[in-house]
Amino acid sequence: MRYHKIPDETIRRLPIYRRGLLFLSEQGQQNVSSRNLAGCLGINPSQIRKDFSYFGDFGGTPGVGYNIQKLIKQINKILKLNVVRRAALVGVGNLGLAILAYPGFGIYGFDIAAAFDISPKKIGRKMKNITIEDVSNLRTLKKRKINLAIITVPRDAAQQTADALVKAGVRGILNFSPHHITVPKKVKVITIDIAMDLARLPYYIPAG
Ligand code: NAD
Repeated sequence: MRYHKIPDETIRRLPIYRRGLLFLSEQGQQNVSSRNLAGCLGINPSQIRKDFSYFGDFGGTPGVGYNIQKLIKQINKILKLNVVRRAALVGVGNLGLAILAYPGFGIYGFDIAAAFDISPKKIGRKMKNITIEDVSNLRTLKKRKINLAIITVPRDAAQQTADALVKAGVRGILNFSPHHITVPKKVKVITIDIAMDLARLPYYIPAG
């Protein structure tokens, strides 16, 4: 089944629902109502019902709620998290190293299988079973069945990195650089910018 015309905002919330459901399941719960799931996540219950309605029947029963395992399975299917995804990381500096060291991506089916840098001081070094490779090896990604990538290079190297990744067959990029990278339509870029979130935080803090 293909899911068309689902708002990006709904897709953005699905992993949040999934995380809440996994938590409830770990607590031994088998079913959950949209109200309880909403309470656990700080989201409006009608928002949850509306999001779920895009996918047809999610199996909710009045008075019982949704079967948690079934819901997790369906969300995994929609997000295509039911297969292991091999990803590459480019730019093994402060941020790149922290991402490589983080063990928590595995539960989403992500395997950071390769890391690349331009610095001779870093190439050849080992980090968690991954040997850092020269960026010129990016062209081998297709053969290695790696079609996702994380960009953690400085701003001025971001576009050329994205170009090389696209040329190597990468279809999804998580961009941590502050540069707005441009890619062909078939490639999805998600940019993460903690600094921009930090920059709007003081607005909400009372003065004084
Ligand atoms: P860093 O200088 O510690 O690391 C950058 C790494 O990229 C270095 O190892 C460098 O050798 C490598 N590099 C440079 N040019 C390259 C190229 N052409 N190909 C491959 N590797 C190359 O920097 P950092 O502090 O880790 O930050 C990395 C990026 O992440 C920067 O763009 C920074 O602005 C951004 N950043 C974003 C956030 C966020 O919230 N999104 C937070 C921190 C940093």
